[in-house]
Amino acid sequence: MYKNSLSLLLFAIFLSCNTFNTVAQKKSKNGIKVEKSDHISVSPKLVVGIVVDQMRYDYLTRFWNHYEDDGFKRLVNGGFNCKNNHFNYAPTSTGPGHTSIYTGTTPATHGVIGNNWYDKETDQVVYCASDDSFNSVGTTTDAGKMSPHRMIVTTVTDQLRLHTQMRGKTIAIALKDRGAVLPGGHTANAAYWFHGMGEGNWITSTFYMNELPNWVNDFNTSNAVEEYEKPWTTLKDINTYLESGLDNNKYEGLFSGQSTPTFPHDLPSLWNTNNKYELIKASPYGNSITADFAIAALDGEKLGVDTITDFLAVSFSSTDYVGHKYGVNSKEIQDTYVRLDRDLARLFKALDKKVGENEYTVFLTADHAAIHVPAYLKDQRIPAGYVEAGSLMKKLSEFMKYKYGTTDLIKNISNYQLFLDHDVINNLDMQLGDVQEEIARELLNNKDIDRVYTARQMWQNEYTEGIPYILQKGYNQKRSGDILMVLKPGTISYSVTGSSHGSPQIYDTHVPLLFYGKGIRKGSTTSRTEIPDIAPTISVLLGIAFPNGATGTPITKVYK
Ligand SMILES: [Zn+2]
Repeated sequence: MYKNSLSLLLFAIFLSCNTFNTVAQKKSKNGIKVEKSDHISVSPKLVVGIVVDQMRYDYLTRFWNHYEDDGFKRLVNGGFNCKNNHFNYAPTSTGPGHTSIYTGTTPATHGVIGNNWYDKETDQVVYCASDDSFNSVGTTTDAGKMSPHRMIVTTVTDQLRLHTQMRGKTIAIALKDRGAVLPGGHTANAAYWFHGMGEGNWITSTFYMNELPNWVNDFNTSNAVEEYEKPWTTLKDINTYLESGLDNNKYEGLFSGQSTPTFPHDLPSLWNTNNKYELIKASPYGNSITADFAIAALDGEKLGVDTITDFLAVSFSSTDYVGHKYGVNSKEIQDTYVRLDRDLARLFKALDKKVGENEYTVFLTADHAAIHVPAYLKDQRIPAGYVEAGSLMKKLSEFMKYKYGTTDLIKNISNYQLFLDHDVINNLDMQLGDVQEEIARELLNNKDIDRVYTARQMWQNEYTEGIPYILQKGYNQKRSGDILMVLKPGTISYSVTGSSHGSPQIYDTHVPLLFYGKGIRKGSTTSRTEIPDIAPTISVLLGIAFPNGATGTPITKVYK
């Protein structure tokens, strides 16, 4: 189950030495001209990192026949497809996901242990990207008070900046602040995100600049966003969407004011009752706006115009909002991917034109996947369900009262972790490890909980496979909790409509990973790859230092 950590370290060093040899050999065997200063790297003018929020691997295969040749298929057919790519930690959520992709490591090392988490030092719940020491730029609200300060390591984007003496630019773009701030790293020239509500503008933080550049102001004052204030109809005839369930079903959520979750979704008539521009975020038009803005950034930020490599990090967030509302099997999710395929094609076409067809390198992945709606699975007689949190907490309180004479032992429960009050435990003269184990055993009596682990186990063991390995990679000694809970496969803590994510189960970990463009060969693999491999893979391609906490391994098969 676990190994001596020194031998593991030596093994890892041995493995990575071998990896580098393979890269160098493969390159010379293929007859690529080797220059002394550039013997194992290529210099695309631009690297484009694309993260699709909540994209399952099977969205590539399930909707394949609806994609055109110049979107997803362009990457799959002309690039390298890692078909067995996984998150190797939990919680599988957006903040940790984007951070792990760009840092080449996991929450155990980079410190972003959730979107939100309970901060033991300050006794407060914190948000992964918030930073009150900075101000908003482009909005009168607090939506711009962000920075990457809670991420304690560097990103591949930081390393590119350091490598190029800050001459290579990093621009990060997403509807969600965390989808832009974390990929941009500590040295981004800019991260831009979208503030919906009544404003509908791209904004940033004083962490990056004091005023929006002209091109962003121009975009905001144009009608580029308002153009999408229109009904959401399916792009193709809905009767051709045979790869998803019925349009009208009980597994889907509603916008406020709607009576059925069916097409067309009339955004203009729902506008005022659903926080205005927030509606666009929750439709595929949010992805279109993201593509529009990313294309505008190519000119606006002069990306990929010289020989010094720049980095554009783009994250498409609407896929997550749509998944949460309608679920994995909905017509809405199918249409969202059919439309994203078109938005990707537009982005690639703009890159061809502005940067040059063989002058850029792309990777595309996701920040986590998602579960089928458990209520739907249940109706198909597949074991699935929802946690009854109320009765779980009631039983736990009764246990603590009986066992310890107090119910004041729990500080916080978040991301399926329980944080104990260490002061109370000290005052009662109890051993922390013992209390962790006793409460963990009690929790295991609950019908929805499949496994429990304690912080003591996470500290003392070195897990190498399965669920405990995934939990340990997400376990940060300074930040994580005392007891880790894993729900039964198919069980979530969520509404009975829509899909969610966050677990270490395979339906939340399996996501696409595609590489395409300069330096990338055509092909595919079914060997397991893991999210932290992405940043080292890009680092080797560019010949730059790895992010300083990187634990992943370069995927050598992708190189030309
Ligand atoms: Zn989500």
